[in-house]
Order: sequence, then C-alpha cells, then structure tokens
Amino acid sequence: MESLSNRAKKLEKKPMTLAERAYLPAIFQGLSITMQHFFRAATKKQITVRYPEETRPFSPVFRGLHVLKRDEQGRERCTACGLCAVACPAEAITMVAGERKKGEQNLYREEKYAVSYEINMLRCIFCGLCEEACPKAAIYLQADKMAPPRYERDEFIYGKDRLVEPVSPDNRSKRGIQLTPEQADKLRGQLA
Ligand code: SF4
Ligand code: SF4
Repeated sequence: MESLSNRAKKLEKKPMTLAERAYLPAIFQGLSITMQHFFRAATKKQITVRYPEETRPFSPVFRGLHVLKRDEQGRERCTACGLCAVACPAEAITMVAGERKKGEQNLYREEKYAVSYEINMLRCIFCGLCEEACPKAAIYLQADKMAPPRYERDEFIYGKDRLVEPVSPDNRSKRGIQLTPEQADKLRGQLA
C-alpha cells in the first residue's frame, strides 16, 4: 500500500550470514550480558528492597496522588470550573458541577462546587498540568503518596471520597468548621 506520509523506508531483505544462521554469537553475547549482571549483583550489597515493607526514598520532583484541598475554614476549594479537565492531556478528569444550596456555605467555598469529581489513575500520567491550570489552588499532586496496587480496574477511578483532603468531624472545631449533625453524618459516610 502507498504510504500517505512519504516517510516510510523500504527495507531490503539481505540473506543471513553464516554467523547469523548459526545463532551462536548472538547466544553468547546475550549470556555474557546476563553473567555481567549476575556478578555485579553478587559482589555488591543487596540492590533490591523488600517492598512494600521497605520503600525507596522519593525523588524531590516526584508527583504522586492528587488531593483536592480545603481552605483554612475546611471548605472545599474546587469550584468545578473544569480547567483541570481541559488541561489534562490524558483526559483523566471528569466532574459534575452543582450549585451550592442555602446553608452549605460552610462546606463549599463558592457558589458552584463539584458534586462529583473523578480521576482515572490508570489514564493519569502525573504530569501536574491540572495543578498548574487550577485558578483556585484546589488540586495538588502529593510528593509522598502514590496510587497503591489494586486488583480491579474500576478501583483506580478515584472519586471525591478518596481525593478530598480528609477532615475528621471530631476535629471540626480546630479547623473552624461548623457542621450540622446531618452534614457531619454525611461527611462520616464519605470518610468511612
Ligand atoms: S497529573 Fe496530568 S494526566 Fe494526571 S490528571 Fe493531572 S493533568 Fe491529567
Ligand atoms: S480542581 Fe481547580 S481547575 Fe479543577 S475544577 Fe476544581 S477549581 Fe477548577
């Protein structure tokens, strides 16, 4: 078939040399690399770690699991503007926006908030562009947390229950949040 881009190279199929037909040089070359690694590992101290009991230190520029931040009064910062979703090159973020109701001023900072907010960690490439795009300083990639391994694919879709910065209903006075009993129950349910 004719190439549309005109960048295709035509390869000539050359006959194999005697050494290539014997396969032995390639086999010995592969074995020599294996032995090099074997002796290097045997002479050095242990080069593996017993993960997950033991972990390697994170790089100073590591970008890990996202967190949706609350403000100093414990209210959710995110206003569901969608800029993070637009900036995301992996199309990993989805959300549903809603209007804040009367009496919810202590839960959501602005009149619009994210009723649902999801990040598909299997799509995410942890580039940090969502963090850069956010005008409300609402989303950050944590420098010391990563998505743990799981068995099911849908367990990698993180919703607000796992993304929003946790605040214990019992600590609300310290954080300046005044929750109604119903709101405290709802929050407990989300944190459970
Ligand atoms: S870190 Fe990058 S890929 Fe992951 S959700 Fe944010 S913008 Fe998308
Ligand atoms: S996290 Fe930031 S950019 Fe994304 S929807 Fe919320 S406020 Fe907008």
